[in-house]
Amino acid sequence: MTQNTPAYLLEKDGNLWLTEDEHGDLKISYRIKEVVFDQKSNFQHVMILDSHAFGRMLVLDGIVQTTSKDGHIYNEMITHVPLSIHPDPKRVLIIGGGDCGAAREVAKYRQVEQIDMVEIDELVVKACKEYLPEVSGRLSDPRVNVIFDDGVKFARNKEKEYDVIIVDSSDPIGPAEVLFEKSFYQSLHRALKDDGLMVCQSQSPIFHRDVMEQTYKRIQEVFGTASMYTAVVPTYPGGLWSFTIGTKQYTEPDPEKVQRKDTKYVNDSILLSCFSLPAFMRK
Ligand code: SAM
Repeated sequence: MTQNTPAYLLEKDGNLWLTEDEHGDLKISYRIKEVVFDQKSNFQHVMILDSHAFGRMLVLDGIVQTTSKDGHIYNEMITHVPLSIHPDPKRVLIIGGGDCGAAREVAKYRQVEQIDMVEIDELVVKACKEYLPEVSGRLSDPRVNVIFDDGVKFARNKEKEYDVIIVDSSDPIGPAEVLFEKSFYQSLHRALKDDGLMVCQSQSPIFHRDVMEQTYKRIQEVFGTASMYTAVVPTYPGGLWSFTIGTKQYTEPDPEKVQRKDTKYVNDSILLSCFSLPAFMRK
């Protein structure tokens, strides 16, 4: 370890630990076998770490984004739920998603003709393709256009172009803060076709209740209809995680039309039951 070693990666009793700090109130530590990749981009500190409990992990500014052990849960839930609600998705936009896991799942739909993935940080994509193949699948589908740009800037000038927009963002701090603003959801509303729908991760119902409620409220104001679903992702604080859908027309998967895909977590009953919310979330 050098003088430049960040506070979230420290050696203790001969072991290396990554410690994620939730606003000073909660710390989650992972014992690390090896630092596989470690570079700073213009946007953030990008690391791929090999951990004992979760295998390889993408870590941005000290926060775990996805891992080889549980990354499929989040990536399947943020993609297959909206793609099961839209009856004929052809053009899909992913904002963020640099680990390529969401694009990999969207590519499982044959009727999807174009997948634009707008990621602000080229280094995240490079690192994940090379060192996190369990999540990225070393994505090389010809329908995927990777565009390195700010998602807000990209979406601002689009009009009625997409069937489904997936906002696969990091937490609302740093470059992703703007992806939680109302004006951004207004741009997405414009960028969607008349029957389009969007989804975003809306943080923890336990630890980020304000962000979750605000996200839901903003999307409902912009789209008229919002719905929320959950999944359990062990490496996200509290485990229980929320997703919010803003939709112009379709609201739920049609059980008759749900397409079976090669997935590890999502199945027909999860697609339908994930909208059943605990009482405190319904309120
Ligand atoms: N699954 C993760 C989670 O919920 O913790 C998030 C996935 S991570 C791949 C999110 C990605 O969003 C990062 O690669 C980050 O660089 C990207 N990102 C952050 N702000 C962005 C912006 N304004 N425009 C486009 N991409 C952005």
